[in-house]
Amino acid sequence: MSGDGSIPKNESISLDDNGHAAIANLDPALLSAVRAAAVDAAARGVVLKVTSGWRSRAYQQRLLDEAIALYRSEKEALRWVHPPEKSKHVTGHAIDIGPTDAADWLVRFGADYGLCQTYTNEMWHFELMTEPGGRCPQPDRPRDRVTG
Ligand SMILES: [Zn+2]
Repeated sequence: MSGDGSIPKNESISLDDNGHAAIANLDPALLSAVRAAAVDAAARGVVLKVTSGWRSRAYQQRLLDEAIALYRSEKEALRWVHPPEKSKHVTGHAIDIGPTDAADWLVRFGADYGLCQTYTNEMWHFELMTEPGGRCPQPDRPRDRVTG
């Protein structure tokens, strides 16, 4: 089910998939910024797809539980996955972009739309963090944070 915003691993959806909870529940300002970027990227042959958008609290918790099972350590899992109360995906203020060439394009040109890479270890994760044409803050170092 997609009501919780989940998108299977290694899959992506279109920015125009308004029927998908991952898109429908995004912050409208974030969504319109990414859509504007996508139009310009497409003109240069780069297609921006969404690998993760809004997530329900339950879905975020599930991601954390999976990471705890994987690492066999809650402490280690929390280095990589935010709990629901910390994730910007849960509030609709973060989006993960793929494939790699699309994320790379947005890392380079995202600031033109106010979009910034938030974490050095997640080149796909973007948030609205500046004015269009502004400067992005330095991404957080991995030890300061965890998966989106
Ligand atoms: Zn993310």
